[in-house]
Amino acid sequence: PPSRPAAPSLRPDDVFIAVKTTRKNHGPRLRLLLHTWISQARRQTFIFTDGDDPELELQGGSGRVINTNCSAVRTRQALCCKMSVEYDKFIESGRKYAALTRPTESPEPSWVGTSCPACQALMPRTSLAHRWFCHVDDDNYVNPRSLLHLLSSFSPSQDVYLGRPSLDHPIEANERVQGGRTVTTVKFWFATGGAGFCLSRGLALKMSPWASLGSFMSTAEQVRLPDDCTVGYIVEGLLGARLLHSPLFHSHLENLQRLPPDTLLQQVTLSYGGPENPHNVVNVAGGFSVQQDPTRFKSVHCLLYPDTDWCPRQKQG
Ligand code: UDP
Ligand code: MN
Repeated sequence: PPSRPAAPSLRPDDVFIAVKTTRKNHGPRLRLLLHTWISQARRQTFIFTDGDDPELELQGGSGRVINTNCSAVRTRQALCCKMSVEYDKFIESGRKYAALTRPTESPEPSWVGTSCPACQALMPRTSLAHRWFCHVDDDNYVNPRSLLHLLSSFSPSQDVYLGRPSLDHPIEANERVQGGRTVTTVKFWFATGGAGFCLSRGLALKMSPWASLGSFMSTAEQVRLPDDCTVGYIVEGLLGARLLHSPLFHSHLENLQRLPPDTLLQQVTLSYGGPENPHNVVNVAGGFSVQQDPTRFKSVHCLLYPDTDWCPRQKQG
């Protein structure tokens, strides 16, 4: 009998990576990312900012630098506004691709998610919809290979929420029931946004009543929580799904010096302390001094991709 085709393995394009940034960080932070990890994940990386910057649009690639028109301030509202646009772009990117692809007899995979039954006829066997949504900050290094490797062990049609919890216990939040005075308490885990986190398309679609087309902001207002906590609230508190705690995501809230050097290249995300905490960087030896590479991202990048033109030449043996 003809054997069934194997489940397609995860390709770089299956992952949508959203980078949150702000106008004043384009030079100081984003340039470094564009020269390092984004150069290895160009087609799947989308930059969400709050101001026009033609130079960034050239470097980032057309259609992949998105001006959210959210305000350039550090408030819950402005940050939730950005998360809401990231979410909508991810959902929309799947629909657009799905509608453009060739017909097939196989049913629509559940992670594609279209609300248009007539579009079913257009569904491809292997849809070009992004199967995974991952969010990172502009002070994260992403290892696209590790990310792909991690995600490939899960199904995008199942409820998957992956990241590093900020706290060692679940957060408690007060839920205001519509209009009334009733306040109930919900307990849930959330992934710290500054370390990056991922959602399967299946789960992201289920989140839409509380996340799509601006409802993310009203959800965040209801519980008065920051963007990353609100994601946890929707996933765990409202949908009853669970955060899968992963030790491979890292923010500068942890002591990055303590990460064993021989495990650095397997991590999914890294970060750095920045001017306020310049010593909180990963411990990597390499061609660049701490002065030349204060974030250590260039050194990590050259270990991962030694053929990069600006990396120090390997010594001849
Ligand atoms: N950010 C933003 N708008 C602001 C300030 C910060 O979108 O007004 C973004 C910033 O680009 C980064 C994230 O929010 O991706 C976290 O900012 P930062 O690293 O400066 O602060 P942290 O919360 O990590 O200390
Ligand atoms: Mn940060």
